[in-house]
Amino acid sequence: DKAPLSVLGLGAMGTALARAWEAAGHPVTVWNRTPARAEGFSTAAGSAAEAVAASRLVVVCLLDDASVGEALADTDLTGKDLVDLTTGTPDQARERAEWARARGARFLDGGIMAIPPMIGVPESGGYVFYSGSRELFDEHRETLAVPAGTNYVGTDAGYAALHDVALLSAMYGMFAGVSHAFALVRKENIDPEAFAPLLSGWLGAMLPFVQRTAEQLASGDYTTGVVSNLAMQAAGNATMLRTAEEQGVSPELLTPYLDLMARHVADGHGDEDGTGMIDALRK
Ligand code: NDP
Repeated sequence: DKAPLSVLGLGAMGTALARAWEAAGHPVTVWNRTPARAEGFSTAAGSAAEAVAASRLVVVCLLDDASVGEALADTDLTGKDLVDLTTGTPDQARERAEWARARGARFLDGGIMAIPPMIGVPESGGYVFYSGSRELFDEHRETLAVPAGTNYVGTDAGYAALHDVALLSAMYGMFAGVSHAFALVRKENIDPEAFAPLLSGWLGAMLPFVQRTAEQLASGDYTTGVVSNLAMQAAGNATMLRTAEEQGVSPELLTPYLDLMARHVADGHGDEDGTGMIDALRK
């Protein structure tokens, strides 16, 4: 028999999660602040307290950490296994873990690396970072693996959020670069459809840099195996900026990275790989 669980929050993500568990045969009790969203589910609780009381495993997926505090305020969490799939910061997760412990619950935080259409679709590659109670994770591992893959990253409740936000931050850096690149060619007679595979191919070719960065951070030596050191790269910055100007494109997405590079080179780190900029970035 499949383990029963309660899902609090039926936004786009909560609905996808609850449907995936229902489809896999788990008895699911749902609750949503606005009751209309619970229509179509077989078991809807009339209050958050009822939903929490219905199952030992309680999954919350609400807008933000504040809404989790609000929604669970009048619930009895004694003996519950609380899994928080609401996006938040590492410190918010740590504080929420303390808060749950003080109320007698085990706590696991999750960072969802998927969008709703990827939930319940194993081949989509979507997964969830988990951190916090290892016992909770091990005990409910099969259930947790139903909507998406699982990746437990540590007993520190903040680690799931930290991994989640780190990956999202890198993604935004990439999106910024993609936006700038398309903006550069936009006004020309260059077909975006022809340009796209060139851009994605180039980004793919640069990906091994991620692994080399890790190796350089581990060794502490940022100068071995460098093919394009920062001094060489910084010399090209003027070309990047002038091209943006020639094409009538704002450099605002590019300049923060180029400024940091110039500063790090000026500080005497021109022989380093881009890895050196990580140290320059840490306040
Ligand atoms: P939605 O905006 O679709 O839904 C938000 C949910 O939070 C609704 O159920 C809403 O209830 C509820 N809510 C908001 N405030 C309160 C409150 N004070 N008390 C009780 N309930 C409240 O968001 P998603 O479902 O898309 O996202 C949920 C979480 O999942 C977020 O933390 C998001 O970052 C994360 N996530 C979402 C992804 C996505 O692509 N959608 C991807 C990865 C993570 P009501 O219906 O009553 O307004």
